[in-house]
Amino acid sequence: MKKIFLALIISFAFAVCSFGSTYFQQGVSLFNKKNYQAARATFSKAIDINNYDLSSRYYYAVCCVRLGEKERAISEFHTIIRMDPDSYAASMSKKALISLDPNGFYRPVNSSSSQYDSYINNAVTSNGMYVRWDRTKPIRVYVDPANTTIENTNEVKQAVKQWAKALKGTADVILVYSKQSADIVVVFSRKTFEITKTHHTLGTTLPQYTSNRLLRLSKVELSTMSPSGKVYSPVFIYNTALHELGHALGIWGHSQNKSDIMYAYADENYRRSLSARDIRTIKLLYQNPANITNTSNTSANVATKLNKKRINTKVEEALNYLKKNPTSVNAHKHLGSVYMGMGDYDNAIIVYKRVIILNPKDDQSYFILGYLYFKKKDTQNAIVYYKKAVDLKPAKVEYTVVLVERYISAKRYNEARAALENLYRLNPDAKKNPMIARFQVFLDFVTIFKK
Ligand SMILES: [Zn+2]
Repeated sequence: MKKIFLALIISFAFAVCSFGSTYFQQGVSLFNKKNYQAARATFSKAIDINNYDLSSRYYYAVCCVRLGEKERAISEFHTIIRMDPDSYAASMSKKALISLDPNGFYRPVNSSSSQYDSYINNAVTSNGMYVRWDRTKPIRVYVDPANTTIENTNEVKQAVKQWAKALKGTADVILVYSKQSADIVVVFSRKTFEITKTHHTLGTTLPQYTSNRLLRLSKVELSTMSPSGKVYSPVFIYNTALHELGHALGIWGHSQNKSDIMYAYADENYRRSLSARDIRTIKLLYQNPANITNTSNTSANVATKLNKKRINTKVEEALNYLKKNPTSVNAHKHLGSVYMGMGDYDNAIIVYKRVIILNPKDDQSYFILGYLYFKKKDTQNAIVYYKKAVDLKPAKVEYTVVLVERYISAKRYNEARAALENLYRLNPDAKKNPMIARFQVFLDFVTIFKK
């Protein structure tokens, strides 16, 4: 494998701007000296300048392999394939993935089996229903220009067009210029979202339907600012909108495949696009009868019978994948997220505890465990797990926010203060976070009050 990596790399060094190519050359030189740490840092600079510099991205991933960071390398190779599936870098990334992750997800593209060609079984609600808009009339999307820039509004419109293209021939998705006539309304918000919802921290989607199962409106809310007060880039807004619009159109669950836009966790800062699986899933959803839709005379009742079957399939699929990949952290996380989505917190806890046995440094899973115990109203355990997430990522504002919130609710003020002090020491900017600031004011008040 090592030989292949070295031989191909120079050959696909193509068009990058001058700074980027300087970094690229420096990186290659460091790489050849086997200084992978420094090489990786240099390729990272090249990628910052040009996100589409696939040569640097490929080298970056190989550096991760050499540094023993297999998971990260796998994720990077997937990224390259997703960015330009027909490129030489992608074809080499596929080869690398097959040897790095032989049971991994990379099968779908080459495989003739249709089992993983879509994630339609994950597109149902937690009680197994298909929710989507009536495909016999145009689906109307309104993007509210308030609270944001024209650039961001245009990004969202681009995301709408991506889904329209994916559904072409199956359903029409159109942009409208009035809130009143819209099925889906996208609004921008300067507030940051609840961080306890491990995903959707950048946007939320709330479909509304009546008691007699009539879909009325889907409201997508996009945050323009991170919980730590950072303003999101237009590309970030685009990616988030693309994901949230998938929910608004009817994909209720998440894909377990990182290359799909509907994968639950996203922190990429390059422009993403819909994968072949995303497109197949939305098409399948719109070709199937719906349980909940915006016209009443549909085949909803026929579909209801399928609900139980679908929800079982969703768990079954996750269990099957786990059976095939018993040591895969991602397979466990996927199953855990399915249980969590169904509100089955007990099973979710069992699964996420296995994740931390497999990877004791998985801060995200400790964080989720904290959340699961919080949902079960077990503050004691919620604190234990949130604390572990904070111990692993002490400078991460989001983690300390939830921990301090739990401490305050348990009236453990001294520990809350200590946690804040610890965060300030590592991340002085954290004081600017509105939640942190609010906690500080509250704790100061408690202190004064005691005196
Ligand atoms: Zn989502």
